[in-house]
Amino acid sequence: MTGGFNGTALSCIPPAVSDSLTAFAQGKLAALEARSLKRTLVPTRRLDGLWVERGGRRLLSFSCNDYLNLSHHPAVKAAAMAAVETHGAGSGASRLVTGDNPIFGLLEAKLAALKGAEAACVFGSGYLANSGIIPTFVGPRDLILVDELAHACIWSGAQLSGARIEPFRHNDMADLAQKLALHRGEAERALIATDGVFSMDGDVAPLGEISALARAHDAWLLVDDAHGLGVVGQGRGTAAMFPQAKVDLAMGTFSKALGGYGAYVCASRPVVDFIKTRTRTVVYTTGLPPANAAAAAAALDVIAAEPERVAAVLAKARRFTSALDLPEAQSAVVPIVLGDEGRTLAAARALEDQGFLVVAIRPPTVPAGTARLRAAFTAGHPGDEIDRLAAAVRPLMAS
Ligand SMILES: *Cc1c(COP(=O)(O)O)cnc(C)c1O
Repeated sequence: MTGGFNGTALSCIPPAVSDSLTAFAQGKLAALEARSLKRTLVPTRRLDGLWVERGGRRLLSFSCNDYLNLSHHPAVKAAAMAAVETHGAGSGASRLVTGDNPIFGLLEAKLAALKGAEAACVFGSGYLANSGIIPTFVGPRDLILVDELAHACIWSGAQLSGARIEPFRHNDMADLAQKLALHRGEAERALIATDGVFSMDGDVAPLGEISALARAHDAWLLVDDAHGLGVVGQGRGTAAMFPQAKVDLAMGTFSKALGGYGAYVCASRPVVDFIKTRTRTVVYTTGLPPANAAAAAAALDVIAAEPERVAAVLAKARRFTSALDLPEAQSAVVPIVLGDEGRTLAAARALEDQGFLVVAIRPPTVPAGTARLRAAFTAGHPGDEIDRLAAAVRPLMAS
């Protein structure tokens, strides 16, 4: 008996250990609180793809990544419910054991076709995908070049790999070229990793140039397109905006424009077969619940059938940037950088008082000194509400 289930074993933990741990956490929290950096969970009910209920108030959300409002789409919900009825609530095991529900293969074929790739592999989440894929292909004798604003899970994967990590300045091709020239020769293998659409800035990586540099220096290219799929490149993602770009590992998620949960990578057949054999976040983790895969497949069908839904996202974001004379939106995400954490929190509260949810994003999610309101636009946002939001944001931008 390994014990502890009835509480007896748990009570054997010396109280001093947990007191010291508690004191540690309290000290850390107090320090963060003093710098407006403590975070708290706020229970929020998403009523549909647009409206949320928070603190007893109904707010129009500009903080969900549900860019196509598919989380509440009837066909997507029906697919998820039918999959639960047929296949149950969970996968039951790792995909390599008994968890490889046939829905995964169908979804992978759909994804590969959409991305023009030979094959695809589905993951439990985007975080799991990047933290597993990167160490599968680079290790201690290798080099990984990462855009400084790339998503946290790319950094986790890079650190897990043990490879030499060289950050390059955001979207700065001269800096990337220089770092490749300096360090490529010392490494056996090299990987360049970047977001396609940057999650907190909404801008797009110059994948044509990055891909050319990758080829010139015999480096592989991983693109995390969590915010590009379903939004840019006619819904096919960032790489579709750069026809000459060759992306070796085209990763993305079901958790943003597809409205659900889970992730994928598209690549050549041998690369995908190797991932399914060796990537720790595939081998040692339970398969995605079948309902998530069914929902993602249904969401891809909606995207294919309704190009006007995809086009609406950029149109809505651009309505906002043009109303405020901001640089034209390149994706669903528009940052309004205010700099100071306290000021950004106050701005978010002021918008909440006017019926808008635009969450303040603070370090370490964004670099120090760049706290911001991050507005995310969706296909369904009414134009007059976007104008009303712009009018509410304008006075908050004047410092
Ligand atoms: C959200 C996000 C992820 C993580 O995806 P999850 O499926 O939520 O774990 C990875 N990369 C980027 C760029 C993201 O925005």
